[in-house]
Amino acid sequence: MTGTSRTAAVIGSGFGGLALAIRLQAAGIQTTIFEKRDKPGGRAYVYEDQGFIFDAGPTVITDPDCIRELFTAANRRMEDYVELLPVTPFYRLAWEDGSTFDYANDQQELDRQIRLRNPDDVEGYRRFLDYSRAVYQEGYIKLGAVPFLNFRSMISVAPQLTKLQAWRSVYSMVSSFIKDEHLRQVFSFHSLLVGGNPFSTSSIYALIHALEREGGVWFAKGGTGALVAGMVRLFEDLGGTLRLSSPVERIETKGDHARAIVSRGETLPFDVIASNGDVVHTYSKLLSDHPRGVSQGKKLAAKRHSMSLFVIYFGLNKLHDQLAHHTVCFGQRYRPLINEIFKGPKLATDFSLYLHSPSITDSSLAPEGSASYYVLAPVPHLGSADIDWDVEGPRYRDTILDYLEQHYMPGLRSQLVTVRHFTPFDFRDELNAHLGSAFSLEPILTQSAWFRPHNRDDQIDNLYFVGAGTHPGAGVPGVIGSAKATAQLMIDAQP
Ligand SMILES: Cc1cc2nc3c(=O)[nH]c(=O)nc-3n(C[C@H](O)[C@H](O)[C@H](O)COP(=O)(O)OP(=O)(O)OC[C@H]3O[C@@H](n4cnc5c(N)ncnc54)[C@H](O)[C@@H]3O)c2cc1C
Repeated sequence: MTGTSRTAAVIGSGFGGLALAIRLQAAGIQTTIFEKRDKPGGRAYVYEDQGFIFDAGPTVITDPDCIRELFTAANRRMEDYVELLPVTPFYRLAWEDGSTFDYANDQQELDRQIRLRNPDDVEGYRRFLDYSRAVYQEGYIKLGAVPFLNFRSMISVAPQLTKLQAWRSVYSMVSSFIKDEHLRQVFSFHSLLVGGNPFSTSSIYALIHALEREGGVWFAKGGTGALVAGMVRLFEDLGGTLRLSSPVERIETKGDHARAIVSRGETLPFDVIASNGDVVHTYSKLLSDHPRGVSQGKKLAAKRHSMSLFVIYFGLNKLHDQLAHHTVCFGQRYRPLINEIFKGPKLATDFSLYLHSPSITDSSLAPEGSASYYVLAPVPHLGSADIDWDVEGPRYRDTILDYLEQHYMPGLRSQLVTVRHFTPFDFRDELNAHLGSAFSLEPILTQSAWFRPHNRDDQIDNLYFVGAGTHPGAGVPGVIGSAKATAQLMIDAQP
C-alpha cells in the first residue's frame, strides 16, 4: 500500500497534534484531526471579548527554526502563513524590593547587570552559558526529535548524561557557577516554563537558556493564536481535515490493533491513530476496553505530574508601557514556595507570577488605547492540594489583581474592562488533563526520554502519541520535536 491510500486520525489539535498532522498529510497520509473544543490549539486556545484577544497559554516562542522546518517539510514558507516578531528584552525578572533584571540577548548588557549584583558572577555566568550550550547540543539538537523506543537507546546516551551531570538539579548546577541568589533565580526558573521544579528537574533543562540565546524569543504577530491559525491553514491547504467540537470517546481495538475512532456516536475506521490528548486520559479512558489501556493508565497515573496553573486574562483601558512584554514577578520566597507548589498540601498565601503584556509588542490585540494581559500563578495540581477552585478561584483572582496593582500596575482595578480566569479544574475538565496538570508528566530524569511514554505504544502496533506527555516533553519546541519523532515512525511503519 502506498502512503496516499493510508489514513490517520490525530486526537487533539495542540501544537503537537497539529505539527504531527501536517507532517503526515505532507507525506501523503490522509489525516483527520478530532478536537474536543470549539477552536484548535489546545493549551494555545484563544479567548476574545469586547475587542480584546487573549492567548490562553504559550506566549514565549523559542526556536523558530523548528516551526520553519515544519513548513519547509510541507514545501511551504512559514513567512506566507505567520509573521514572528522579536521580543526585547526576552524577559524582565522583577522582585518585590523594586529591583529588576532585563534578560536580553546582549552579552555586554547582561555582563553589566550581573556585575551590579555580583562582579564574580560575570565569569560564573560565562561558564554556565558554556554548560548550557553543551547540554543544548546533546539534549536538544541531537536527541530532541529522536524517539526513545527501547532501553538500548537510553543506555547509548548514558555517557553524555553522566558527563553533563544530568542527575543534578537545574538549581544545583546554576548555583555551582553563580553565587548571587537573585541571579540564581534568573538562570534557574526556566524549567518552570515546561513544568519542571528547578530543585528536582534534571540539569539537562538548563539547555533552555542556550536555546533562547541561540534562537531568540519571538511573538507571533496577532498572538500565538495566529501561529495556530497558520498551522491549521497549512494543514487544510495540504488537504487535511480538522473536526472541531468532536471529542473522541473511545479508540476501538481488535486484538493489539487500533481500528477506529468513536466520536459523537460515529465509529470511523483509520489505518493509524495518534493521540495528542493527555496520556493518562488516552490510556485509562479512551482505551478502557483494552487490558493495555487499563494497565498503562494506572501506571502513568501513579507517576509524578507537573504542577497546575491559575491564569487570569484581563483587558484594561490603559497600556502600562512601563512593563516589558514578559515579566516574571518573584515573590519573597523561592525554594520553599516552589516546594509547596509541587508538593502541596495547600495553596500558599504568597506567589510568584508570570505577567504577559503582549500589547507592548503588538497593538492589534486590544481596542485602541487599551491593552490585553494575562497573569499566571503556578499552583499545586489536584492530587497534591484539595482545593475547591470554584470557591477559591474568584478570591485568588482578586488577591493576585490587588498584588499586581500594588507592585506593578497602578490603577489596575479602575482600568479593568474584562476579566476571566482558568483554574486547575478547567485544565482537568476542558483539556482532560490528569489532576489538572498544566504540563503533563513532570520532567524529572526518571520520567524523561525512554522513561517517558513512548511515541509509539509498545503493544498496540498502530497507536502513537505526540505532545507534552511524550519525549522530549512540554513547551512549544518540545511538542513540535515530539511530532517530528512520531511522524517519522508513522510514515516509516509498514501498513
Ligand atoms: C498557561 C500556559 C502557558 C504556557 N507558556 C508557554 C510558553 O510561553 N512557551 C512554551 O513553549 N510553552 C508554554 N506552555 C507549554 C505549552 O503550551 C504546552 O506544553 C504545549 O502547548 C502542549 O501542546 P500539546 O501538543 O501537548 O497539546 P495540548 O495543547 O495539551 O492540546 C491537546 C489537545 O487535545 C484535546 N483533547 C484532549 N482529549 C481529547 C479527546 N478525548 N478528544 C478530542 N480532543 C481531545 C484537547 O482539547 C487539546 O486541544 C504553556 C502552557 C500553559 C498552560
